[in-house]
Amino acid sequence: MKDLPKTKEEAKLERYGCWAGHPKGNPFNEKCCAAHIMTTGRGALPAQCGRSPGHGPEKLYCKTHADEFFPGETATWYKTGSSYDWEIKEVQVCAETDKFIKIVSESSQAESRSTLKVSGYDRYWRTRKQAVAHLLDRAKRGLESAKRSVVDLENRIKTLK
Ligand SMILES: [Zn+2]
Repeated sequence: MKDLPKTKEEAKLERYGCWAGHPKGNPFNEKCCAAHIMTTGRGALPAQCGRSPGHGPEKLYCKTHADEFFPGETATWYKTGSSYDWEIKEVQVCAETDKFIKIVSESSQAESRSTLKVSGYDRYWRTRKQAVAHLLDRAKRGLESAKRSVVDLENRIKTLK
């Protein structure tokens, strides 16, 4: 079977419902699951799955098709840590809900664990770009705060002279 799209970009290049009578098919409808199906009933034709997406790679698939086509599939996410830690670590994620992700443990023996996407310390990002943007924002806020401290200290020094 042809590889199913795993990113929105790939899905946008996909054509649905192609057959001899409609060779060019239809473009991807992003309000629907990205899987190909056959319509039911007489004269079954290929089509895009009509169910709501929200599961699987980049949430492109309905639950049924995500479970069918991407069982145990993992995606690389990026983790940023506490305010003293400027590292971006890659983690393998095998499932996602609104608030939680399930990380496949680094050592294959250990069990996978669920964790909050955003906690007091750690945050998990879908793309490296998002993780970098978060650290940059944190650095800028730190710099602003440091500047305010300098001004404050300079004022104190003036009053002590
Ligand atoms: Zn589907």
